[in-house]
Amino acid sequence: MLRLLTTREDLDTLLDREDLVLVPTMGALHEGHLSLMRLAREHGRKVIVSIFVNPLQFGEGEDFDQYPRKLVEDMDLIGDFADYLWAPTCQDIYPLEVESKLEMIHANSEIADKLCGLSRKGHFDGVCTVVTRLFDFVKSSKAVFGEKDFQQLMVIEDMVKRYKLPVEIIRGPMIREGCGLAMSSRNQYLSDKERKTAANIYKYLKEVASGALTIDHAREIMISLGIELEYLEKHWDRLFFAGKVGQTRLIDNINTGS
Ligand code: AMP
Repeated sequence: MLRLLTTREDLDTLLDREDLVLVPTMGALHEGHLSLMRLAREHGRKVIVSIFVNPLQFGEGEDFDQYPRKLVEDMDLIGDFADYLWAPTCQDIYPLEVESKLEMIHANSEIADKLCGLSRKGHFDGVCTVVTRLFDFVKSSKAVFGEKDFQQLMVIEDMVKRYKLPVEIIRGPMIREGCGLAMSSRNQYLSDKERKTAANIYKYLKEVASGALTIDHAREIMISLGIELEYLEKHWDRLFFAGKVGQTRLIDNINTGS
């Protein structure tokens, strides 16, 4: 049965930390998150899901206030997939900072200062800061992160290595909707029309990855479809997309195999 934990004391008194796997999330859970929980189950004996909408990783004018918060629905959804749900408050995560200055953990700029790092200044420092705290509080031997946020995954893997954190990072494959759209908590902001437009993103990523289309041509097509393109770029062995459909910022990526 799923156990709800809130405070750090709950973690210390109620959590069985032996062979525990953490799945950090911001809630408004969907099949993409569930796939990470299934994977976590394959890698450990107990699964803990955290839900925390981290203010530090949202910039000014971003959707921190509007970000969907659905704790009751989330609890219903994950009942069969996780043993613990940890839903801390901001005070639980950043207790010292009430009185003193917040000590940020900085992301490696070689990974973070491109793609999403350009438009979302400080975003990956916010991610690194919260993730180190989640690790420190939960103390699981493993944690699962999705390839949906591939740059974030690279930043976290690098951070774990640099700081020699005692946690193994497991990569979870990207889960898509039937139309190809990458599943995201933000998809619920999309109207039906916008969702149809957004479904084209994966279509053109695949065409570029297969060599049927150049990146330049795909950029032109996406813009002509009404997508407000932020980037379509190749880094490492992946093609990365970010852009807005209507007011909703979406990201995606695909392996190019080279
Ligand atoms: P979020 O709640 O958006 O912060 O995501 C929590 C975790 O779920 C992150 O590791 C994401 O990469 C992962 N995730 C979100 N959407 C998907 C998806 N469609 N497929 C796989 N993993 C996902």
